Amino acid sequence: MGAPLPFTATADVAHVIQGRAVSSAQSRRQPVFNPATGAVCRQVELADAAQVDAAVAAAKAAFPQWADTPPVRRARVLFKFLELMNQHRDTLAAMITAEHGKVFSDAQGEVTRGIEIVEFACGIPQLLKGDYTEQVSTGIDNWTLRQPLGVVAGVTPFNFPCMVPLWMFPLAIAAGNSFVLKPSPLDPSPSVFMAELLQQAGLPDGVFNVVQGDKVAVDALLAHPDVKAISFVGSTPVAHHIAQEAARHGKRAQALGGAKNHMVVMPDADLDQAVDALIGSAFGSAGERCMAISVGVLVGDVAERIMPRLVERTRALKVKNGMEPDAEMGPIVTAAARERIAGSIASGVEQGAKLLVDGRGYSVPGFEQGFWLGGTLFDHVTPDMRIYQEEIFGPVLSCVRAPDFATALDLVNRHAYGNGVACFTRDGHVAREFGRRVQAGMVGINVPIPVPMAWHGFGGWKASLFGDMHAYGEEGVRFYTKQKSIMQRWPESTPKGAEFVMPTAK
Ligand code: NAD
Repeated sequence: MGAPLPFTATADVAHVIQGRAVSSAQSRRQPVFNPATGAVCRQVELADAAQVDAAVAAAKAAFPQWADTPPVRRARVLFKFLELMNQHRDTLAAMITAEHGKVFSDAQGEVTRGIEIVEFACGIPQLLKGDYTEQVSTGIDNWTLRQPLGVVAGVTPFNFPCMVPLWMFPLAIAAGNSFVLKPSPLDPSPSVFMAELLQQAGLPDGVFNVVQGDKVAVDALLAHPDVKAISFVGSTPVAHHIAQEAARHGKRAQALGGAKNHMVVMPDADLDQAVDALIGSAFGSAGERCMAISVGVLVGDVAERIMPRLVERTRALKVKNGMEPDAEMGPIVTAAARERIAGSIASGVEQGAKLLVDGRGYSVPGFEQGFWLGGTLFDHVTPDMRIYQEEIFGPVLSCVRAPDFATALDLVNRHAYGNGVACFTRDGHVAREFGRRVQAGMVGINVPIPVPMAWHGFGGWKASLFGDMHAYGEEGVRFYTKQKSIMQRWPESTPKGAEFVMPTAK
């Protein structure tokens, strides 16, 4: 196979409503950049409330027939979609690299992890099976079933333009709902491409719709009486806003927010593995992952032993255009994000952290206008510093020193975020204690980025998730359905007269 072709489309990105591209000359628009070149490649439309209304109306009209379609037939559409996703995996990956900047192999990984949710959703007939109790009372049976909610919406972040929408819509539509996706305007193309694949797979028009846009579109979805539930993934302040507004409008919400993921390295850990894990998970995708490790907690004498190696590896990172086969890290998504991250680095210096590798001022020959930032490494970071408290969402690894395991665990547990966390050790007791006592939703023991598989569900604790249910897995099925309990009796024809007491088993 030859080298992958870069994604070079220039057409503006429009909405997809009722199976058709919908565009308006009057719409507000926003530029879509290629972060490696810094060039504007196309424009994306930003929906107003009327366009959101049109998408919700299309979804509402499509819902009754889709909800009535037997789950096994809905699954067949998803099987076809799965086949198409596998066929076009590299096209989607190139699209992601072109608009997000992450390296192509990482973008392929993103698409693969998304495809796994489609595989899971193909099992929807089994997942929707209810419980049945024969003879709850004499002649009475009781069973539960799960029915779709209606029109549900998904609002997704820039950092996984393919995978995070796939956390949502395959299960939602497999369960019989119709869907309106509002992707990030920074990298909108994969959403439209996946809508085309769904149509090719035979999904009826209107079951899946895309509105491009910003806060205006999101607020219109939140207030819309026909939207029954919202799935959100993005930063914590917006997640909080979504959860509050959804509650105010009587909607179900799962709102996944930001993160500050710690990796505790114990003195008995395999340090070769720990170094690889810290470098890969802090700088992969330029740290723009909600499961990126951004804090290394170095216990006992680990710092003395590990820090020179982290310095060397951070300096040696291959930061370049993501379509280069040997690139390890691509550019930052926008110039504004790069400035924000540079501001965080400056605050770390001001507050007394020791800057060992400074990624600011990085440039790539031939791509001088790209949004570059090299890997950045801090030592002697303390909990009172902004770089410790705030999510930086960039290639910055902050190392904190802790004298012992109890202090390290306490540090992790006192942090406002609780998305992912890892502990590297060879001691089974420490590993077990860590797993049991740590206050975070996703835990890795000698695994730096413990993103759960499709059938386990994804979600953090504390300020990393507002709502009760995690994304995808069986929690996802529960989120997109409501339970109904049916109790049934077929009495003999002889009437027994009315009963006025609470029914109990006879
Ligand atoms: P963001 O919060 O800026 O945007 C997310 C979505 O919300 C986008 O679709 C955006 O258009 C919309 N939005 C932005 N501001 C809004 C507002 N004021 N009101 C309504 N909608 C608004 O997030 P981002 O920068 O696109 O993504 C990065 C963030 O997402 C990071 O904080 C990261 O940790 C988080 N994230 C979390 C998870 C998770 O599973 N917990 C996964 C991926 C990303």
